[in-house]
Amino acid sequence: MLTNDELAKWDRESFFHPSTNLGQFARGEGAQRIVKGAEGVHIIDRDGNRLLDGFAGLYCVNVGYGRTEIADAIAAQARELAYYHAYAGHGSEAAITLAKMVMDRAPDGMARVYFGLGGSDANETNIKLVWYYNNIRGLPQKKKIISRWRGYHGSGLMTGSLTGLELFHKKFDLPLAQVIHTEAPYYFRRPDPSQSESSFVGYCVDKLEALIKAEGPDTIAAFIGEPVLGTGGIVPPPQGYWPAIQAVLDKYDILLIADEVVTGFGRLGSLFGSDHYGMKPDIITCAKGLTSAYAPLSGSIVGQRVWDVLMQGTDENGVFGHGWTYSAHPIGAAAGIANLKLIDELGLVRNAGETGAYLNAQMRAALGDHPHVGEIRGEGMLCAVELVRDRDSRTFFDASEGVGARIVAAMLKRGVIARAMPQGDILGFAPPLCLTRAEADTIVAAAAESVREVLG
Ligand code: PLP
Repeated sequence: MLTNDELAKWDRESFFHPSTNLGQFARGEGAQRIVKGAEGVHIIDRDGNRLLDGFAGLYCVNVGYGRTEIADAIAAQARELAYYHAYAGHGSEAAITLAKMVMDRAPDGMARVYFGLGGSDANETNIKLVWYYNNIRGLPQKKKIISRWRGYHGSGLMTGSLTGLELFHKKFDLPLAQVIHTEAPYYFRRPDPSQSESSFVGYCVDKLEALIKAEGPDTIAAFIGEPVLGTGGIVPPPQGYWPAIQAVLDKYDILLIADEVVTGFGRLGSLFGSDHYGMKPDIITCAKGLTSAYAPLSGSIVGQRVWDVLMQGTDENGVFGHGWTYSAHPIGAAAGIANLKLIDELGLVRNAGETGAYLNAQMRAALGDHPHVGEIRGEGMLCAVELVRDRDSRTFFDASEGVGARIVAAMLKRGVIARAMPQGDILGFAPPLCLTRAEADTIVAAAAESVREVLG
């Protein structure tokens, strides 16, 4: 796979890749792939490999690759108005139109959308909004944020702190002090195997309430969670989890931030995970599916009760001192408009639900009985296969064996991309929402053959 030509050499010598083993890559030991093109659900690398992308990039290319409607919209926008800022009441037709389209699709009770560039900066914005909100309300001590272990909310200082994965903390001096973590709603890894799903929900709720009481409810500002845990293992919540959590948050006047960077705009077979699970968030984070990653753009969708206080704050204090140069970038907005139109026209939310259910069912049929498959779980166009050393005792492989990564490598040889999730031996699937049943069959066949190749 390694190509020892000049481009590959420049790559090793010049390019600081994110989430990469830097030493291995620089020395030419770590994998390198230079992607040249893409169409539909496939990417094509420079060596001519055509790979079915079972993870839609980083669960973001929801409409699939090569959509000329979006490319044309981006080109037209770049010719007409490549950039103007959005400070002090400025805007572009594209940004205003997209704001209207987002608000038309957002769950009830939402008031405005603030546009950023990616999921991390959107969540940074959200925490600032929450802090500002409580300062304006005269509650300056109410600032801590509760996140879940295994949550993923980004890689910034605050968002890397909110993220509950060891890799994103270790050696970075994170998490910051204002962030505290609670139990992940991960039923398969419940501490007591005899717990029923509903008693496990009770356990998560009790843990949360105990944490709030220990810290002091008047110090807790917000709770952030993904409707379905994503990078932490693709884990749909146990039945009844969100309403039970919501009741605790309401009791202690704690805001809910629904991080819908993965689930927003259709991945679960519903437009938003908040609607899917009956969550009543105060702020919703969206990014990836907003433009299907054709251009960087994120949104912080702000609910009415927060918005009213923000307006009161600027009446009292003047301009809202928060903005990025590229907030509401017209090219990102143009991509977003074309993307949301395509999602509607192609019926991709429905397809995510239907073909996603098919993918999950076929994966269960192919691998559900394998002695090293502990659980197959998913929702909409998300699926995970969790591998175990022993099913009955639910013991896991040692991380040093790299079982998940080896299976993913075996799948690549068969032309299919899956993701070895970072904590545990978990194969992750999050294909484009336009996946067909035949393509789902290809993913399942590659997964089943690869699990058998590696684990027998
Ligand atoms: N929130 C969630 C749920 C995510 O999955 C991600 C990225 O995967 C982020 C936030 C961070 O988004 P970005 O990588 O665009 O900063």
